[in-house]
Amino acid sequence: MTNARLPYLTAKLQGFGTTIFAEMSALAASTGAINLGQGFPDTDGPREVLDAAIEAINGGLNQYPPGPGMAVLREAISEHRLRFQGVSYDPDTEILVSVGATEALAAALIGLCDSGDEVLVLEPTYDSYQACISMAGAVPRFVTLHPPAYDLDIDAVRAAINPKTRLLLINSPHNPTGKVLTADELASIAALAIEHDLIVVTDEVYEHLVYDGTKHISLATLPGMRDRTVVISSGGKTFNTTGWKIGWVCASAPLVTAVRTAKQFLTYVGGAPFQPAIAVGLRLGDDYFERLATDLQSKRDRLVSGLEQAGFEVYRPSGTYFVTVDIRPLQPDGDGLAFCRSLPDRAGVVGIPNVVFYDDKPAGRHMVRFAFCKRDDVIDEAVTRLKELQR
Ligand code: PMP
Ligand code: GLN
Repeated sequence: MTNARLPYLTAKLQGFGTTIFAEMSALAASTGAINLGQGFPDTDGPREVLDAAIEAINGGLNQYPPGPGMAVLREAISEHRLRFQGVSYDPDTEILVSVGATEALAAALIGLCDSGDEVLVLEPTYDSYQACISMAGAVPRFVTLHPPAYDLDIDAVRAAINPKTRLLLINSPHNPTGKVLTADELASIAALAIEHDLIVVTDEVYEHLVYDGTKHISLATLPGMRDRTVVISSGGKTFNTTGWKIGWVCASAPLVTAVRTAKQFLTYVGGAPFQPAIAVGLRLGDDYFERLATDLQSKRDRLVSGLEQAGFEVYRPSGTYFVTVDIRPLQPDGDGLAFCRSLPDRAGVVGIPNVVFYDDKPAGRHMVRFAFCKRDDVIDEAVTRLKELQR
């Protein structure tokens, strides 16, 4: 992340520089440090999903798929939404396949916002949100979530809404905090969206990664919300296939049409052989999705207790791949960015400085995010190294 002014780059993208994930993964590669930065698993997902992609390639599914996505995948997405959230979407008119959730988010913001519209986001925000809001010519308005619980301050949301507000962009389970919005919090967001006639975009890419019996509830399930909510998700986290970039949008037909209009000029289509493979994944039995969450919950526990032993103040997440720590017990100046840049040399570990996800920089300056979607031996080795920082 660099704030240096870049020649040629448009004013609206100044300040975005290189993403923190690129910077930190490059640092991990050049130093050989353990990469607990960028969130990707270090093991493969279900064999039948991988085999389906191989079969699709061997079977000749290697040309452009249809614009809205292959029917087999749209049907599987529809069944999956109905099975897990009880909401029915028409595969032909209410579902759109995208190049990861990232493209779906970009297309939603570009297709739904005019210049000067305001987009209300919860911060810390996933890094692509701000850049895409800017690319859409819209203006972000932030409502900050604070540790330890990162509960939603609904009065702050209400206060941030004004006549220019076009949409609310919600992410639950939330990256980087691991916060899962509760039924009450979702109900109060829904009430405001209905009162002010707002569209809500919900990023649900971590929908199956919830722990301790926490339930992920899609905002679209709340009364009056289905037809004003754009649900975005993807297969990367659910099937350990972050490199495949198969995402999707579920919404009413007019909302999907608006998103598709933008999407068709971004990539048109993508990932043909991966589409039927993700369809196989979405149709796996409930036991698959339960085991995924149970396995990740034990990895969360492993890393949380290791980070506590290493001396950090740790905020236990209810979902996602990530745990956030306050570094000040180990680094009293609380400079998380400097901490992460020196960590590979000092300890052979890479983390992500949460400050890059904040507009209110002081709120996130002393926070660092570590990913636990890694093999147990990798987590254990990282913890052993981090404990050395106390010496
Ligand atoms: N939203 C959030 C909150 C994320 O953490 C990520 C990162 N995987 C994405 C969207 C992007 O998802 P995809 O890889 O499917 O583009
Ligand atoms: N979503 C992943 C994370 O937050 C990274 C995705 C990316 O590299 N853009 O770590």
